[in-house]
Amino acid sequence: MANPWYKDYSEYLAERWPGVKVQKLSVDAGFSCPNRDGTIGRGGCIYCDNRSFTPGYCDARRSVAEQLADGRRFFARKYPQMKYLAYFQSFTGTHASAVGRLAELYAEALAQPDVLGLIIGTRPDSLPENVMDLLTEINRERRVIVEIGAETSHDATLRLINRCHTWRDVEDAVRRLDSRGIECGLHLIAGLPGESCADVLTTVERSCRLPIASVKLHQLQVIRGTRLDRLWRTGELAVHPFTLEEYLELCVQVVRRVDRRVAIERFLASAPPEMVAAPRWGLKNYQFTNLLLNRLAATAPGDAAAESRPDKN
Ligand code: SF4
Repeated sequence: MANPWYKDYSEYLAERWPGVKVQKLSVDAGFSCPNRDGTIGRGGCIYCDNRSFTPGYCDARRSVAEQLADGRRFFARKYPQMKYLAYFQSFTGTHASAVGRLAELYAEALAQPDVLGLIIGTRPDSLPENVMDLLTEINRERRVIVEIGAETSHDATLRLINRCHTWRDVEDAVRRLDSRGIECGLHLIAGLPGESCADVLTTVERSCRLPIASVKLHQLQVIRGTRLDRLWRTGELAVHPFTLEEYLELCVQVVRRVDRRVAIERFLASAPPEMVAAPRWGLKNYQFTNLLLNRLAATAPGDAAAESRPDKN
C-alpha cells in the first residue's frame, strides 16, 4: 500500500520499474573528490569522512564487476528475481582522470547481469559538458539518475562547511540535467552549523521548486576525527546535534512541504555507531521511518495543535 504521507523510495522505484524488485548496489570505483584533491578545494567538507557512508563491502581495490557480483550474491539468496541499480556513491562519481575512464567504469557496471541502470552521486560543480554528453548518451538506452550533494540552499552555511560551491551551482546543475532529460535527486543535511529548522525548511521549499525527482535528507552526524568533530569539541563552532524528538518534529514539517511529485528517499544517516560522536540515537533507518509514520498519523492535517506547533529552534 502506498505511503499516504509522502512518496517513499519503494514507490519511486515501482513507478519506474513496475512489478520489478529493484535494489541499489553501491560501488567504490576509486574516484577522488575535487574538494579534496585541489581541483576545486582542499581539505574537503568539514563533516566528511567517506568511510562513514560507504558500505563495508565496497572496496576500490576490487573491480566494479566484482563489487556488483558480491552485492548480487548477497541479495539473490533471498530475492532471486531482484534487479539492480549500480550506485557510484563514494566521493564524487563523475570525477575521474578523464571522461573516457568514466565511460569505461559506467559501461562495466551496465554490462553486469541484472543491472538496469546507474545512480551517480556527485557535486553540482562536477558535471562539465563532456560528462553531461556521456550521461545523456547512456540515458538514451539505460536509465541514469544523478544525485547531487546540495546539503543546504544557504551560501553562508556552504562557506562555513567548506563545500566550495554555491546554491546557484545546484540550481544550474539541476536545470542542465533536466534539459537533457536526466533525472535528478538532491541530498540535503539538517542541522548544519548556524542553521535553524526554518532554514532547513527553506532549503526543502527551494529544492522542491526545482525539476527534481527525489530528495534525501539526513541529520548532521558529527563523525569522530573530522574537522567538524574538532570544532565542535573545542567550541569553535556552534553545533547543535538534534535530539530525536526535535528531528522527528522537523521531518513532519518537511513531509508537509514536499508534494508527491518528489520522492523522499530517506531521513536518516546511519554511519557505523563507533564512528559517530553525536547524535547517538541507536536507530536503524526503518525504525526511524516507523516513528515518523506514527507521528505523521498522529498529527495529520486537521490536527489544530500540530498545525500551530512552532519550530524547535
Ligand atoms: S562530502 Fe563529498 S564533496 Fe565533500 S569532501 Fe566528502 S566526498 Fe568531497
